[in-house]
Amino acid sequence: ASSKKTQMDLKKARLRLSMQDKLLVYYRKHVVIPSAEMSRAKQAAMDICTELRNFIHAKFPDMPLRDMYLSGSLYDDLQVITADHVQLMVPLILEKNLWAAIPGEETIMNVPGFWLVRRENMEYFPRGNSYWDRCIVGGYLSPKVVNETFDRALSGTINWPAIGSVLDLIIRPVVPSEMLTLEVQYDTGKKLFIEFLPLIVMEEHMLIAKPHRDGRYENMWRQSFRTAETVKLRALDERDGGCRCCCLKILKAICKSSPVLNKLTASQLTNAILHGCAKESDWSPDLLSDKFLMVLKELISYLEQGFLPCSLDTKVNLFLELKEEEIDELGYMLYCSLSEPETLLNT
Ligand code: GDP
Repeated sequence: ASSKKTQMDLKKARLRLSMQDKLLVYYRKHVVIPSAEMSRAKQAAMDICTELRNFIHAKFPDMPLRDMYLSGSLYDDLQVITADHVQLMVPLILEKNLWAAIPGEETIMNVPGFWLVRRENMEYFPRGNSYWDRCIVGGYLSPKVVNETFDRALSGTINWPAIGSVLDLIIRPVVPSEMLTLEVQYDTGKKLFIEFLPLIVMEEHMLIAKPHRDGRYENMWRQSFRTAETVKLRALDERDGGCRCCCLKILKAICKSSPVLNKLTASQLTNAILHGCAKESDWSPDLLSDKFLMVLKELISYLEQGFLPCSLDTKVNLFLELKEEEIDELGYMLYCSLSEPETLLNT
């Protein structure tokens, strides 16, 4: 009888758990990835990166590239639930005098956050002077053609099963996909997706060949703010031992687990938090649940406006790629969750 009583007491205690405690339990139980799993995933990614680097170097010795590198939340300790994806960054080298980046707001598309990359000096350096001239469409370097070029060069010619068996991995290209993506099985039941992401750096901006969600502006490069955003968030936490990254990871895990909320990206969530940091400076860990609720409310209000300004360039609307119905649905779901936020943590 006494054990029954203890159980009842435990149950009651659990019911009394504050939102703060619930968030911390959720974080420990569902958000954090075991470090062994992270190491295994990173090792698999690194092995494949090395193989690809060697292959491209051997097969396309004149292709002007800087060293490829791995990047993404797995490397910033911001990945959640399971170690299942990384980006393989592929920096193209562009001749400074032959290419110019034009911000999207100065083009007829008028879309901040996307860029055109125009071929310059054609009269003195005609087509063929740059290796990347083969990827020009209508005078501009086409991210789509760049992606297709890599796709053709890699999917067709690499013997993935052979490489996989050497590395003790099962590797297969994901088809169809807009970007070259590899699915890697590294332990029984553990899958890692490696997304191949060509990029260029122009005037200190990082532009990536990741297409718009519904295929618009296909000749434009997307500006990536990821590095700067992440650095900013981490630096704030490091300065005061705050809970910003913890809050971000909880939100990411909630979104990753929900068929509706999974339309929200890490970048949108990060920026909602960064805006919150500008408004309130105290992010001590004991305020986690206050901050969590604040970010939810902020997100709802940005969704109502249909505009989430990028904290590093407020012209850029990070909700640009969401459809109106999706914005409504996201806003509605978050709004409903406010009365009982713990429902977001149901797993
Ligand atoms: P997560 O995927 O939610 O864990 O968040 P990440 O912070 O790892 O973001 C990865 C996503 O951001 C992918 O969809 C990438 O295509 C996109 N992305 C945009 N810019 C960058 C960048 O500079 N580096 C990486 N790794 N991903 C970027």
